[in-house]
Amino acid sequence: MGMFDWYEPQPTLMCRKCGAPLGRWQGKDGACALWVWRQGVVAPIDQEVDEECQAWLEVRTAERLPERFEIYTTCDHCDQWVDATGFCERGVWVTTARGRHGESVPIAATRIDKQFRQCARCTHVWEEAENPTVRLAGCPSCGALTNLTVDADCN
Ligand SMILES: [Zn+2]
Ligand SMILES: [Zn+2]
Repeated sequence: MGMFDWYEPQPTLMCRKCGAPLGRWQGKDGACALWVWRQGVVAPIDQEVDEECQAWLEVRTAERLPERFEIYTTCDHCDQWVDATGFCERGVWVTTARGRHGESVPIAATRIDKQFRQCARCTHVWEEAENPTVRLAGCPSCGALTNLTVDADCN
């Protein structure tokens, strides 16, 4: 068996350094059986091993991710290393936040002008361009895991 699994965040995350789409994410927090996980799908969508080595379909459909798991990739375009953390709800991968947050307790982020959010720790303001409404996000400045706590636009 392999030493990691493959991960496909949905929507695709873009490299913050050069803007290229990031693919071929790997992680070691799952079964490490070369499963291919796609965000939003409860069980692996594939297994990247030779056909004769693939697990039984019953095994694949019963496989689940841990509640949190860390994944990583390098940008094909600029070689930037990128870490991210996946979060599951009821066994399904629902959110991907930049950064390594295996143990982090989220701090607050406040919505500003609809598409921006501000970190409560370092006051940095940024945009989650790929997914503007996602609640959990890694602050690009201080690295904190943030939770968008104010949903209503106060203006
Ligand atoms: Zn890049
Ligand atoms: Zn911050």
